[in-house]
Amino acid sequence: MNVATRWVIALVILLPTGPAWAATTVTVGTDPTKVVIKGTLVIPDQVLDGELVIEGDTITCVAASCTAPTGATRVTVTNAYIFPGFIDAHNHVAYNVLPRWTPPKLYKNRGQWQGSDAYKVFKKPYDDLKGKDLECEMIKYGEVKALLSGVTTIQGTSPGSQCVRTLIRNAENQANLPTSANHIRTFILDIGSFQGGINWTATKSFVVHLAEGVRGDPKSLTEFTTLKTKGLLASGTAVIHGAAFGDTEFQQMGAAGAKLIWSPRSNLVLYAQTTNIPVALQKGLEVSLGVDWNPSGSDHIFDELRTAAQVNEDDFSGAIPDADWIKMITLNPAKALALDAFVGRLAPGLKADITVLRSRDDNPTKSVMKTHLQDVQMVWVGGDLLYANKAILDKIKPGECEAMLVYGSQKKVCVKNTKLQVLKATQTLDQIRTILQTNYPLLAPLTP
Ligand SMILES: [Zn+2]
Repeated sequence: MNVATRWVIALVILLPTGPAWAATTVTVGTDPTKVVIKGTLVIPDQVLDGELVIEGDTITCVAASCTAPTGATRVTVTNAYIFPGFIDAHNHVAYNVLPRWTPPKLYKNRGQWQGSDAYKVFKKPYDDLKGKDLECEMIKYGEVKALLSGVTTIQGTSPGSQCVRTLIRNAENQANLPTSANHIRTFILDIGSFQGGINWTATKSFVVHLAEGVRGDPKSLTEFTTLKTKGLLASGTAVIHGAAFGDTEFQQMGAAGAKLIWSPRSNLVLYAQTTNIPVALQKGLEVSLGVDWNPSGSDHIFDELRTAAQVNEDDFSGAIPDADWIKMITLNPAKALALDAFVGRLAPGLKADITVLRSRDDNPTKSVMKTHLQDVQMVWVGGDLLYANKAILDKIKPGECEAMLVYGSQKKVCVKNTKLQVLKATQTLDQIRTILQTNYPLLAPLTP
């Protein structure tokens, strides 16, 4: 046996025991608006080996087998999971140009660090960039960071600018969905300064920063009283943090049908403590997960999930069941943001927001917990493939999009948009990064 033959035999023996690499085959059809994706679908309550059909921006079939529309492109993925696009229930997208912040001490509540000199110094580059009229670039940079982790809808971009209509969905900005301008209202300042009321006929989700502090912190608990006094505790209310809350507050939130948004990493960094999720679950609350922001939160949704799972193990005695994790980044935030008629599940009639991840475990939940940025295979937003392995995008959008290397994996991202007539839509990622870096050399990396 010569050396070459021995190598071939060694490879044949070794290959099946090696890591299962996701493989994708693409057969390009004649009609770019129609796609059939075949593989393991996480719906997300159920796992199904089957097919999903995209027509335009909408999912039209999810079943063991679907009739392929004429001219459809066919995509077959193996050793991978096909998820509904992830929803980051809470973020401050434009702030994610900033690097990690190491606070000089621990705090009791949000007012303490927000008013500190250390924070003002840290935040200054954000104000400077905004002052140079670079907010569109900052938001889009933050959106690309989210897109790279499979996020297709994100909360936390103040309404007003048209430039956010490209890339992923911004919850407050109607997100290219048929909702009214006031469908979602967000309030992140001190609730005491909230003026007027909420017209619950128009507004279906009121997303409010509340009680961000250590458990039982008096100032944080007063915020809950203020919320109730102003008539703002309702089934459409989604409380971000509620970290100071105990039995009484969660009982009242549960009775009102309000929702809870949890950002453990940022809480732990600032307060060495986080929201009492076991009590919230006991009171029947649906919990969503959000990164909050990169400076004190996680770099991406996978790290936030891992932090949450660690807290669950260390402090909650496993009170959060495994079945909840995927829901906390799909179904639950879709409901908290009142967007569940459009996103959060793989089902006919919903928007074709789809995230495909390499399988790292036979169980999709365990697989997500082990996922890193290089494992993200494809991200579709409204039937448009915006990010994928280079080989896939080279076939589906030849000659378009920008190449990038993510931990050794060749990817492509499609940032430039020539279809929407909105401000700065035709900027490439390279142009966005260059202008931000020129004005701010310490710009946070896209793939930390
Ligand atoms: Zn926040």
